[in-house]
Amino acid sequence: MLKDQHGRQTTYLRLAVTDRCNLRCRYCMPAEGIAFAARRELLTFEEILFLGEVLAELGVDKVRLTGGEPLSRKDLPELVRGLGQIFPKLAMTTNGVLLPPVLDELSGYGLNHYNLSLDTLRPDRFFEITRRDEFHGTKRALDELLRRGIETKINVVVLKGTNDDELGDFVALTRENELDVRFIEAMPFNDGDGNHHLYLSHSEILARIADRFPDIARVADERNSSSVAYRVPGFPGRVGIIPAFSRSLCGSCNRLRLTPKGTMLNCLYSTKGIELLPLLRQGIGRRDLADLITEYVLGKHKDGHQTQRLEQAGDVFASMTSIGG
Ligand code: SAM
Ligand code: SF4
Repeated sequence: MLKDQHGRQTTYLRLAVTDRCNLRCRYCMPAEGIAFAARRELLTFEEILFLGEVLAELGVDKVRLTGGEPLSRKDLPELVRGLGQIFPKLAMTTNGVLLPPVLDELSGYGLNHYNLSLDTLRPDRFFEITRRDEFHGTKRALDELLRRGIETKINVVVLKGTNDDELGDFVALTRENELDVRFIEAMPFNDGDGNHHLYLSHSEILARIADRFPDIARVADERNSSSVAYRVPGFPGRVGIIPAFSRSLCGSCNRLRLTPKGTMLNCLYSTKGIELLPLLRQGIGRRDLADLITEYVLGKHKDGHQTQRLEQAGDVFASMTSIGG
């Protein structure tokens, strides 16, 4: 079992399979992209599956594929097939553009939970935010997911002055559909002024929603959820707010992260993880790997504030695309 020094058990791996992406969201990446990893610097599928087997033996039962855009990784369904034989629960966070052609194949391998990132319901604004004209690609993925009844959560990064006038329109989607819409506090990103001008806090987001839906009410959170749950009475879908920057939910964290280059991180705010790629290429055995990870998880900090204080010089991130969001 992977227990940390605060008594929490780690059961969930966020696996970033690439740092590349077909979009260029302004809060995530500069227009020209970042210094992307070379192929030899990425964990191979074989290395990921070996690591996956060790983590499963240590009690991890859920894996979320993320990135970059996970569907940009070549032959991704092959990796999902392997992961499906190890883990009972597979999920993916995606912009959805590349999803429709592989959706049924991925379902067949056990991937049936999606977080779809969609920050606006307006095509022109989608282009403004992502620098790519792909609104209809993401929208089509949403329609296909709903048509198949696959569990879907829409992730909306709230950007002051850009999409904060659409929060009510997103909440209205929960009137017709049994889907969750989750608003994410924008986190600083080390480009330009670091996004601080875009930030709206949990309480400010809630106040904007309440302007249109005054009876929105707090409901029970899912276990280990990263969002605070609400519902408009009578609506089948739920609304969530992810306090990504204010970090009020860290106390129940059950996550571990793995970057595309094989760095294992206890926290989104970590900068000091363990570099597993060289160890895997030197042929580390299962037992030694399990011991190393167990020891690392034990030292996990109480929350993201503590991690930031102890591991970072400032409050900036290189890019969410190399950590996995
Ligand atoms: N490309 C996929 C996607 O966008 O869904 C997966 C990777 S993306 C880095 C994962 C999540 O992180 C997305 O929901 C994205 O909106 C979010 N994200 C990226 N940069 C962020 C930032 N600066 N603040 C808050 N959320 C961010
Ligand atoms: Fe790509 Fe996701 Fe980052 Fe947008 S948030 S640039 S879709 S990795």
